[in-house]
Amino acid sequence: MCGIVGYVGKKHCIDKIIEGLESLEYRGYDSAGIAYVKNKKVILKKAKGKINKLKEKINYNEESYLGIGHTRWATHGKPCKENSHPHKVGKITLVHNGIIENYEELKKELSDYEFLSDTDSEVVAALIDKLYKKDNNMINVLNKLQDYLIGSYALGIIVDNDKNLYAIRKDSPLIIGVSNDGNFIASDVPAILKYTNKYYLMLNNEYAVLNEDNVTFYFDKEKQVKELLAFDGKKDAAIKENYDHFMLKEIYEQPKVIMDTINEYLDNIQTLNKKFKGFEKYTGIDIVGCGSAYHVGLVGGTLISKYGNIPVNSYIASEYRYNNHFYSKNHLIILISQSGETADTLAALRKANDDGIDTLAIVNTVGSSIAREAGNVIYIKAGLEISVATTKAYTCQLAILSLIALYLGIKNNILDENKIEEYKKIGGLIQNILGNVDEEKKIAKILSKSKDVFFLGRKIDYASCLEASLKLKEVSYIHSEAYAAGELKHGTISLIEENIPVISIITDDSIRLKTLSNVKEVCARGAYSIIISNKVFIIN
Ligand code: GLU
Repeated sequence: MCGIVGYVGKKHCIDKIIEGLESLEYRGYDSAGIAYVKNKKVILKKAKGKINKLKEKINYNEESYLGIGHTRWATHGKPCKENSHPHKVGKITLVHNGIIENYEELKKELSDYEFLSDTDSEVVAALIDKLYKKDNNMINVLNKLQDYLIGSYALGIIVDNDKNLYAIRKDSPLIIGVSNDGNFIASDVPAILKYTNKYYLMLNNEYAVLNEDNVTFYFDKEKQVKELLAFDGKKDAAIKENYDHFMLKEIYEQPKVIMDTINEYLDNIQTLNKKFKGFEKYTGIDIVGCGSAYHVGLVGGTLISKYGNIPVNSYIASEYRYNNHFYSKNHLIILISQSGETADTLAALRKANDDGIDTLAIVNTVGSSIAREAGNVIYIKAGLEISVATTKAYTCQLAILSLIALYLGIKNNILDENKIEEYKKIGGLIQNILGNVDEEKKIAKILSKSKDVFFLGRKIDYASCLEASLKLKEVSYIHSEAYAAGELKHGTISLIEENIPVISIITDDSIRLKTLSNVKEVCARGAYSIIISNKVFIIN
């Protein structure tokens, strides 16, 4: 994943591109670069590290009206200045998000070029340059590109002595922002919000030509008429406000966005029934996602299976797409993705579509590839999620899965209708927890000094442990493991040493005593035990 921004217009471009990159830093941050046209020459600036490092090299007063920028998350070649984008080969300068699977074969065929980086992206620049030398028409070149490239790509391209900005995408996201003063390309909406909330979504294999006044879209050389979308969130959604960082802001947004997500379903039993009618026909459900979205599937799947009384299995998308599956007579595959563009989840969806199985997407981004290609879609209303580590999107996705469980539970007479009223209190309950985090801050201080942390839980609590452990690793780089509490004794308990923090999640009364006996085991080995529970209880 990486972030792409480009601008062509009547105003200076450098500040717009750098600001855009900063708002996309969540997509990649090992190096960054910018290319802009000044006095008809392409100027390249690159730096290893975060965008701040690139900013040290930037002179914002330079006059330029056309440029592209990139914040990288290396896939091919280590993070270093040479491998950072943009790449310039011959007359072509480009930024790339994605992976070109056949870049080695292409590189052999492009032996007349000298390559300065280890990236797959530079090979694409050389390929475009070669095609452009043969046929001096970028529309024809972009149209041919899909015949050569295997893999995923969103590209922003500038061509020597050409006033246009070019864009093309396949399986990597790209939007086109439009404003009175000029037009943008970007990997995601936050990058354009300071200047405009109007944008087009590019579809697979579409390409676009942008100049200061217009954007023209093409598919298979035919001009396309597209729907102009408007981001309806707050203009300052991509601003941290008074929070130290976006993750904190997004954690505190949870009470509101969860209620935004569930409100339309929960007016009363009729609205719930209307929205989820037909779910009871399914005799088997697979939930597919990557990272936290996979964990949402584990937690939500446990609830759906319990209250729906049907087999529900959760899968990691990058595995699911390659494995054999045995579907029940009425089978549903639920695909979960915040962006709606997660490559492995999209591939799993396409496989499900090929197999003719019903699909439901739970996504945040309206009109994204997964939303468009799934049989049905439920949008969460999390708003922009800028932080690398998901928080509010995770809880909103889980809210939707638990609504499905609630619907099925009521249908099956396992849950009472008045659970709907209880459910409506969820926003307030989360607000209460967020209102006083003094204890959590103390615990965080202790954890920050640890090299290893263990999480223990059973059933649904174990699924939550997996997400908690991933979150801790992602944001603190502290090693942590999540264990099904009963599994710890089968080898791993030997790793529990004096003062190692062990966090146990205990919310399910039916297995509370079982998990507590595991807590005692780790305490006997000197662990620093922390219990997260929904009830106060006394441990003897
Ligand atoms: N494959 C390209 C590289 O390694 C782009 C990476 C990305 O999309 O983050 O430079």
